[in-house]
Amino acid sequence: MKSFRKELHFNTKTRRAYINITDYVESALAESGIKEGLCLVNAMNITASVFINDNESGLHSDFERWLEKLAPEKPYEQYAHNGYEDNADAHLKRTVMGREVVVAVTDGKLDFGTWEQIFYGEFDGKRNKRVLVKIIGE
Ligand code: ZN
Repeated sequence: MKSFRKELHFNTKTRRAYINITDYVESALAESGIKEGLCLVNAMNITASVFINDNESGLHSDFERWLEKLAPEKPYEQYAHNGYEDNADAHLKRTVMGREVVVAVTDGKLDFGTWEQIFYGEFDGKRNKRVLVKIIGE
């Protein structure tokens, strides 16, 4: 069995962002040479997510408004976690959107369902963040 590890790095200009990282993951898969196996992609920070959904801008603005209703960024004082930091909403948004995805690798390709793409969800940006891609198989 082969094993491949790669980190992706992000530093978004805005506090929140949704970035399609499918091309990066496909490049990592090509680099790995693995044809059959599993590909794990996870955020390595607790205020960011990796999730799979549709690459449609209306949906991304829906995510943004929905998450702001569930866990509004402000007022900062509404959260017990805030004080030294002001990112309690980002921890909550990350929990809702998830930490990681696993995609089957079949015949050297990511074996997606219809319209599936992989996204990085940033909820506390303007700082260095990491995403792990780990691929196992043969
Ligand atoms: Zn925090």
